[in-house]
Amino acid sequence: MVSILKFNHCKPQGIFCFNIPPVCPVCKGNLSSLRSPPVAIPTPFINGVKRPCSVVVKPTVGSFLRDYKSGSNLHTGVTDSKGCVHNYDEEGIHTDTDSTTWEQSLAIPIVDLVDEVLKDIWDERLCNMISEPNWQIDRYHPDLHNCFDFVINFLNCVQFNNWKVKCNEPITKSQFSTEYIVPATSKAARYISLYRSIERYGPVIQQQLG
Ligand SMILES: [Zn+2]
Repeated sequence: MVSILKFNHCKPQGIFCFNIPPVCPVCKGNLSSLRSPPVAIPTPFINGVKRPCSVVVKPTVGSFLRDYKSGSNLHTGVTDSKGCVHNYDEEGIHTDTDSTTWEQSLAIPIVDLVDEVLKDIWDERLCNMISEPNWQIDRYHPDLHNCFDFVINFLNCVQFNNWKVKCNEPITKSQFSTEYIVPATSKAARYISLYRSIERYGPVIQQQLG
């Protein structure tokens, strides 16, 4: 994955690119010496198999940068304190430890969002939940009992809502989706769109400031 760089030349608008071009796409001036060095735009993606105590999300098929479209199916899992991704699908529970399997993921760092104390019970609750019959292969349903139900069930096992908002009600799929998944995928979608524009057209001039 190449980083997106941003630099300024003759206009307040930034110019986004993968490599600094020889001349400015706005004024055609020579860019061999820039007044201020280019900055790398932080990528929203992380390797899910390295991010402990989080909810991780990736497209069910392919990768975010290459394949993601608004409305694409997403697959999601929970990482343990070592960063192994536990996830549920039509083949049952998987524990992914290979760093290529969740290479380009979005992560919602649950323990960072709530309390370090959660770390102490995290692995034990996850381990207990995985062995429940509820997550065996024959219980899977693509809409009613899927990877996201697994994640939400786990968040309720560690009483996420209670830690986060002092609320005794369990968190629902729609609540977690609206508050955490949608903001993360929307941010990713803006990055993906910029990335694909640079890939297709070369340096891109910033539309709006901010
Ligand atoms: Zn210029």
